[in-house]
Amino acid sequence: MIQCDDLREHLEGCEDCRLHITVEARLRTQPILEPPKGLVARVLRGLPRAVPLRREILRLAVAASILVALAAGGIFLRPDQNPDYVAEVKPHLTEAWQAVASLVTTLNPLERTEP
Ligand SMILES: [Zn+2]
Repeated sequence: MIQCDDLREHLEGCEDCRLHITVEARLRTQPILEPPKGLVARVLRGLPRAVPLRREILRLAVAASILVALAAGGIFLRPDQNPDYVAEVKPHLTEAWQAVASLVTTLNPLERTEP
């Protein structure tokens, strides 16, 4: 086996490769360690908290309801309002209002789920 002889010859003259082979052999004899119990939970607890999605949606829903209320006020409270236009817009605004109101109710800002 020419390759084996070449390899042996190289190893005899090369300290780097001898060291490499020795380290690899030692590593292979080391037991594979299991992570300590509860490590994952501890690491996750230590991570910075993201803003809870629920709270983020609630903020958007409240912002949307304010926009709908402003739009309704702008349309219905104008002195020069056109009755046809109001009649046309009213169902859409009512629908938008019901949507944001039901979202806010579903998310119930008074119910605290966070510590
Ligand atoms: Zn070498």
